[in-house]
Amino acid sequence: MKNIVSVLVKTVKRCLLAAGCLLLCLSACGESRAAGNITNMRIGQQVGSVRIVFEADRAFDYKAFLLTDPKRLVVDVYDMDIKNTLQSDKNNIISQTRVGKLDANNKRVVFDLLKPVFIKKAFTLKPQSNMKWRFVVDVALCSERDFKAKVGSKHAFSSQNDQNVKTASADEGKSWFFNDEDKPRKARKKIIVLDPGHGGKDPGAIGAYGKTYEKNITLAMGKELKSILEKKGYKVYLTRSTDVFIPLRQRVRIAQRYKADLFMSIHADSALNRNAKGLSVYTLSEKASDKEAAALAERENKVDIIGGVDFSENSKEINDILISLSQTDSRNKSSKFATYMVNEMSKTVKLVNNTHRFAGFAVLKAPDIPSVLLEMGYLSNRNEERLLKQSGYRKKLATSASKAIDRYFNDPEIAALY
Ligand SMILES: [Zn+2]
Repeated sequence: MKNIVSVLVKTVKRCLLAAGCLLLCLSACGESRAAGNITNMRIGQQVGSVRIVFEADRAFDYKAFLLTDPKRLVVDVYDMDIKNTLQSDKNNIISQTRVGKLDANNKRVVFDLLKPVFIKKAFTLKPQSNMKWRFVVDVALCSERDFKAKVGSKHAFSSQNDQNVKTASADEGKSWFFNDEDKPRKARKKIIVLDPGHGGKDPGAIGAYGKTYEKNITLAMGKELKSILEKKGYKVYLTRSTDVFIPLRQRVRIAQRYKADLFMSIHADSALNRNAKGLSVYTLSEKASDKEAAALAERENKVDIIGGVDFSENSKEINDILISLSQTDSRNKSSKFATYMVNEMSKTVKLVNNTHRFAGFAVLKAPDIPSVLLEMGYLSNRNEERLLKQSGYRKKLATSASKAIDRYFNDPEIAALY
């Protein structure tokens, strides 16, 4: 009897064990759900950073980290299938994307990097309106040294250390993050910073005939253009609205502080040749398009020497990054805007030859803001000095400039960013 009992107990134990195993197995199988699907990946570029968005039919575990030699961003995704599609804007950070198998259930997405970056953020967004689950990785440019310090899986961003699945906040809802179909319903007002050149102790060019100060003409033009643009629904700021001296670097900072979508510095030129006349539009370049442009940039940049400001406060490395950035994204936008400016202005006024020129103006060096410098004409030319003093003439110029600004923001490539 004792034997039978002990056998029974053993059998029951075995059964329980087996059932337990079965239960364990079932629950384990339940945990590893059927693989989800990443249905889409897209890359959007801001100046200096890119945002990679994975769209998926459910939340998933991930690990995002950097590898070197060659530079790569790796995103491992667990228990997910990836439809091998990637929508990518042109960008100057990621050259190509590859999707491979990490093992049977898990995938590895490799982004080949053109430049050193760090992972700023990685997070998951809950489904919202007509959008699915989204997993977002933001990377931003950094120095080689900072990149090297962040390489390896020990610096990984993963679902283990970032459990805060959230709904999109204002910051993450930035326009470029959205697809065409899920753009915010009402676009925010475009922000324009106008920069009346010179001011205070720095008069700028002085009219050869009527002794007109450039600083007064630029301020009058700035105010005129501001009022026209505001009527059109833009948000407009002036770097100065009175006769004050502002160093060039600070003018750029003002534009950055207001998060300008567009920056326009307003000037009037002068030349030894009294016959020189016409309007021109400049965008930034390290190399001037011609000697005249180089000389002008030198004259305009001297303002800061007057103001006693040190230009060299950035390290070489940071300067190189800034320059390489303005060479691409905002420089392309600046050129696009300059082209619209030239087109519209040519309907109103006499332009110089090669109206769109390039030179190293300090005031155009906001790396993240499309910027142009407008030279409205020559104060050294008798006729142009007379015209620039007339509010009616300035109004004509301002109206043309405002049309160019409309056309720029309506350009399909630019409009797509908002
Ligand atoms: Zn000037």
